[in-house]
Amino acid sequence: MAKHTIVLLPGDGIGPEVTACARRVLDAAGFSVDWVIVPAGASALDQGFDNVLPQKTIEAIQAHKIALKGPVTTPVGKGFKSVNVQLRQKLNLYAAVRPVRTLPGIKTRYENVDLVIIRENTEGLYSGIENEIVPGVVTSLKVASQAACTRIARYAFKYATERSRKKVTVFHKANIMKLSDGLFLDCARKVHQAEFPGIEYSEMIIDAGCMKLVQDPTKMDLLLMENLYGDLISDLCAGLVGGLGVVPGSNIGEDAAVFEAVHGSAPDIAGKGIANPLAVIMSAVMMLNHLRETKIAAKIKHAYDQLLTEGDPAKLTRDLGGTASGERFTDALISFLG
Ligand code: NAD
Repeated sequence: MAKHTIVLLPGDGIGPEVTACARRVLDAAGFSVDWVIVPAGASALDQGFDNVLPQKTIEAIQAHKIALKGPVTTPVGKGFKSVNVQLRQKLNLYAAVRPVRTLPGIKTRYENVDLVIIRENTEGLYSGIENEIVPGVVTSLKVASQAACTRIARYAFKYATERSRKKVTVFHKANIMKLSDGLFLDCARKVHQAEFPGIEYSEMIIDAGCMKLVQDPTKMDLLLMENLYGDLISDLCAGLVGGLGVVPGSNIGEDAAVFEAVHGSAPDIAGKGIANPLAVIMSAVMMLNHLRETKIAAKIKHAYDQLLTEGDPAKLTRDLGGTASGERFTDALISFLG
């Protein structure tokens, strides 16, 4: 196996703990890698950088094309622009892909959930264009461009085709935001009709979509939506399959890809050793598949499936009903690698 060079952003809060666990699993599974470790987030400032997203971090990802990222902290209502938004915009990581699946041994209200969220990652309300018009009146601009809406629609239908998914559903609010969400819908319809007519296509106003998701998520297949909706729906869906500790993700562009869990830096549990590293480990499995290291990916997936099926509380983290630390969970996962 060729040796890979992967950029690692440990991030803030639980980021360094969970990414360290993911590295241990990749090593134990025989993945041959040189890590290029770079700063991002509040920890970059602590290390003396003057920016939460140092230029050296961007350049490392541009050079090596693939990164595994821990979550970063973004202060609410003040301070620096989100690292995630900057990273996705600067590297044009336009497609967030978040598979949400029922896992063996994790008891939730539903069985057989198997859906994927594809979120437009570069514009919408996360464009960061906010202005104070006069004191006491602010605006936040929602950006939708035909180019970006068409690009994400094409990505979603292509993904559905390649993964044998049957149905693409767009969540939107075009009844209120007639121009911006209207354009998003229009682009999805055109791409469907012109390029992928064989895939079932539907549209759902997002409030009704939320209700349908919590009533029966097994009816959903591939969900396509703009940036803010994708952010919110990702956490909602995580709650349907066992929480943020078990949902992975990737941010894909033409020139680079950054793999990261859906969860944030979880300051409430940071430093306690109890964070579940599985979502980052699953994100690393997505990264391995992206690199076509499918055998190692399958080996790690098989190991965590076995660990979860066994269901021993002494080996599972608290969010999964167990008592183990993230380290202990990782040791147990590694013992199933064979
Ligand atoms: P969060 O995802 O960090 O945490 C939400 C809840 O889920 C918390 O109770 C937390 O303890 C729990 N949780 C999250 N990950 C877990 C794990 N691996 N194991 C066990 N429990 C876990 O969301 P938040 O508290 O709203 O945000 C905290 C910070 O993270 C904020 O600054 C936010 O901006 C940032 N954030 C970053 C990213 C990212 O870097 N990709 C994503 C979301 C939020």
